[in-house]
Amino acid sequence: MKKYNFYAGPSILPQYTIKNTAEALIDFAGMGLSLMEVSHRSKQFVAVMDEAQALFKELLNIPDGYSVIFVGGGASTQFAMVPFNLFRKKTAYLNTGAWSKKAIKEAQGFGDVDVVASSEDKNFNYIPKGYSIPEDADYFHITTNNTIYGTEIREDIDSPVPLVADMSSDIFSRPVDVSKYAIIYGGAQKNLAPAGVTFAIIKDDILGKVEHYIPTMLKYQTHIDKESMFNTPPVVPVYAALQTLKWLKDLGGINEIHKINKFKAGLLYDEISRNPLFTTTVPDPADRSIMNICFVMNAGYEKIEQEFFDFASSKGMVGIKGHRSVGGFRASTYNALPIESVEALVGVMQEFENLHK
Ligand SMILES: *Cc1c(COP(=O)(O)O)cnc(C)c1O
Repeated sequence: MKKYNFYAGPSILPQYTIKNTAEALIDFAGMGLSLMEVSHRSKQFVAVMDEAQALFKELLNIPDGYSVIFVGGGASTQFAMVPFNLFRKKTAYLNTGAWSKKAIKEAQGFGDVDVVASSEDKNFNYIPKGYSIPEDADYFHITTNNTIYGTEIREDIDSPVPLVADMSSDIFSRPVDVSKYAIIYGGAQKNLAPAGVTFAIIKDDILGKVEHYIPTMLKYQTHIDKESMFNTPPVVPVYAALQTLKWLKDLGGINEIHKINKFKAGLLYDEISRNPLFTTTVPDPADRSIMNICFVMNAGYEKIEQEFFDFASSKGMVGIKGHRSVGGFRASTYNALPIESVEALVGVMQEFENLHK
C-alpha cells in the first residue's frame, strides 16, 4: 500500500535525494567505491562539501560576511555552542516551547538569561507578542518553528541586538532575510537530510568577542576556518543535503517551495476548520506553522480519537500521532511532502466524517 509520510523528524525527503544517495553508497562519483569508505579529503568529497556550502548560500540568498558550516551534534549541541561563542554578560530568549526551554537551560549555565516572554501558560499554543528585547543583551534567541506545538514565527523580526534563531524545522520552507540574523542553526533531519548533520549560518563579525576559553570543537571559528573539515564531517548526510538543495533549486528555489508549502498547509487547515470532528490547537491563524499542523478531536468526539488514528493508518497515513505533550494529531508538511499526500489526508478526514454523521 502507498504510504503517506507525515513524520515530524526524521522525516520525508525527496525521492531524488534518497535515490542519488543510495547510488553513491554503492559507487560514489565514479570512484568504484562507496561514499562511506572514501576519505573526506578526497577531491571528490571536497567538491561535494564546497558545492553544498555554495548552494546553501545561493538558495537562501546569504549576503557576504556570513559563513555556512556543517557539523555534528544536532541542534541540541548548538543550544550550548551559541552561548559559548556569544555570551559575555547577559542574554535574552523567547520561550515558545520545549526546544526553546532546552536552549534557555544551556544559556543559563553561562549567567543571566532574560526570558522576555513565554507562551507556556497556554501549553505554547501561540507566539508571544508585544515583548521588548533588552538593548544590553549580547543576543536574542528565538525558535522560529515550534515543531511540537505547530506554531511558527513566519516573518523575520526586528531585534536591537544580534538575533539568533533555531530554524531546525522551517529552514528552506520560506524566504528568510538572513541579514537580520547573527546566527541561524538547525538539525538537518527535518527539511534537508538524514540525521547526523547540523548547519549553522554565522555572521563573521559577531565572533571573537568573548574572553572565556571555547573548546575547539565548540568554537564556530574552528569550523569556519577549516570549511567544515576540521575533523571528519558527517559525510553521508552532507552528500544527501546537497541532493536536497539541488532538488530545491530545480524546483524553482525558496519562493516556489514557499508557495507550495502555503498551499499544502492551507488545504489542511481549511479541512480542520470545516470538518466538525476536528479542531485546531493554535487559535490565532497568524501563529500557525506551515510545516507542522496540529489538530485534535472536536468537543464531543474525543472518544473516537484512537478510531481515527487506526482508520487513517489503515489508509496509509504514517507519523500523524501528535506529540505526547499536545495529544491528538500532527501532520508534518515539510518541503518534500507532495500535495497529493495532503489531499489524501483530507480525503481520509472526510471519509471518517461521513462514517460518524
Ligand atoms: C528537532 C528539533 C531540535 C532538536 O534537534 P536535534 O538535531 O535532535 O538536536 C531542536 N529544535 C527544533 C526546533 C527541532 O524541531
